[in-house]
Amino acid sequence: MKKNSASNPLSYTSLNYSSTYRCPACASGELNVIALMDVFACDFCRHMFTANLDTQSVQLADTVRSRIWHWNGWRWRTSQQRDTAAVMVWAFSAGLTIVPVTLIALSNYIFPPLEASNFPLMWIELTLVAHGVMAGWLLAEYHHWPWYISSRIRLKQLRERWFSS
Ligand SMILES: [Zn+2]
Repeated sequence: MKKNSASNPLSYTSLNYSSTYRCPACASGELNVIALMDVFACDFCRHMFTANLDTQSVQLADTVRSRIWHWNGWRWRTSQQRDTAAVMVWAFSAGLTIVPVTLIALSNYIFPPLEASNFPLMWIELTLVAHGVMAGWLLAEYHHWPWYISSRIRLKQLRERWFSS
């Protein structure tokens, strides 16, 4: 059986079991069907996906929180469900970033330093960066963005290479 790759962006390919696709979870590996099973597996992040050819979609099969992607002939589209959990995570991340910075800025405004110095501004910037990183990490953990998943796997591979030698 000839394997036609879906990596060529100019050719429309419907979701079928004889093609390979870019992995929607990590955006780094390739999805290939497992022989005799209606299941796709990624060669990079090792995730397994059950396919539904009628709806042209795949679903993560090996995680607690099942995620679905739809194939539109060229690329994957995440089915965006607006669930309350996502809203809570975004609201918490925004609060985590904005509240501490506002508190520090406000206290600087109410109680200005006696001598002019760059320290208050530096402190505000440092707080913004530190809390922004925390909020970003939280969001990436929640949404499992492909760049985050693939960089986490690459980091793990690097670590294994360092510690095995
Ligand atoms: Zn993958």
